Amino acid sequence: MKEFDVVIAGAGPSGAAAAKGLVNEGLSVLILEKKKLPRYKICSGIIFRKSQDITEKYFGEIPKSAYVTPELLKGVRLWSDDKNYTDWPFSKDGRGAPNVWRSEYDYWLVKNSGAEIKDCFALIDFNDTGDCVLLKCRNVLDNKIIDIKCKYLVSAEGSRSIIRAKLDPEFEKGLKWFVACQDYYEGNSDLDPYFFHGFMGPQYGEVYAWFNVKNGMQIFGTAVRKGEKINPYLFKYRELLERKFGLNLKKLVKRSGCLGNNMCPKGKFYLGKRNVLLVGEAAGFLNAFGEGISCALSTGLFAAEAISKGFRSKHNNVLELYTELTKQERRESKASWRLGARIAGRDLMPI
Ligand SMILES: Cc1cc2nc3c(=O)[nH]c(=O)nc-3n(C[C@H](O)[C@H](O)[C@H](O)COP(=O)(O)OP(=O)(O)OC[C@H]3O[C@@H](n4cnc5c(N)ncnc54)[C@H](O)[C@@H]3O)c2cc1C
Repeated sequence: MKEFDVVIAGAGPSGAAAAKGLVNEGLSVLILEKKKLPRYKICSGIIFRKSQDITEKYFGEIPKSAYVTPELLKGVRLWSDDKNYTDWPFSKDGRGAPNVWRSEYDYWLVKNSGAEIKDCFALIDFNDTGDCVLLKCRNVLDNKIIDIKCKYLVSAEGSRSIIRAKLDPEFEKGLKWFVACQDYYEGNSDLDPYFFHGFMGPQYGEVYAWFNVKNGMQIFGTAVRKGEKINPYLFKYRELLERKFGLNLKKLVKRSGCLGNNMCPKGKFYLGKRNVLLVGEAAGFLNAFGEGISCALSTGLFAAEAISKGFRSKHNNVLELYTELTKQERRESKASWRLGARIAGRDLMPI
């Protein structure tokens, strides 16, 4: 059985940041990722100011290979109807926010973390004995099961976390879920490609509908509560873009979807239990309008700090310390949803 100080499930930004912080402190770290890397992640790929600062401080400059055109976006353009909008610039200094492919950005982060990486390996079960955590992992290519032992386990699994579900089935049962769908088309439109566009009309989505451009590709999506049919909303939204914004679609390149939950808007964070910590979206960190890279990075680093201190002091107060370290982040996340609702003029997650 292989042994590590820390095993991290998930190779997104939260997992990469946790790994970087732990490796910097001299700990042995393994990242397990169930998909083949670099993996696709449904996302608008906008690196907000705070994410950019953390990325540069811990990982360096985002490589050019991760950028798409337009490379920098000016801000969010929020449409209250098909004529009226308000612009919210990404930064006061006018520098704009990097527009990237998540597959490239995330893979670069994780490779630069210094941790050992096993892709195509899914964490499927674990047992926290109090002294250590025993893991069962499945190689998704040949279904072989391997056992791994670690002192601490970090869930960086994103919104659907099997670790969270096992730690607290009651908490999991109380969650409400939404479905998001995003289409990528070859084509063109009159919408300014230097902005990320949000449409607040409830006829286009129960959460909100969005549009952006990457390498000339027209990307749009919407979200509704789980169980609701998403296609009627998506068709109505697409029809609006075609009729009012000159959207001309040629070839469908990709259709993708995902599930999210109401942890963050409801302030229901789940930070862990005993020797298992949760970071990023697995813990519920997601800001208003679906910005989640900044809190994924920061909570990954906080978990690393708490675990490293736990190793040094040999005290078992790691979860307590992590809870303390993330206090401000939790406050800011909740505030972002209140501010977002004020800007949008309605509840942003009515599920
Ligand atoms: C449509 C959409 C647009 C978005 N746009 C933006 C944006 O422009 N800017 C922004 O900042 N945020 C955006 N977000 C939010 C952002 O994508 C997430 O908040 C962020 O990716 C969370 O990072 P994470 O590391 O917590 O999880 P993730 O990035 O979801 O990574 C989790 C990883 O864990 C792996 N995994 C899961 N379970 C296991 C397991 N059991 N074993 C091994 N591996 C596992 C998954 O395959 C995945 O690779 C958007 C979200 C959506 C849905």
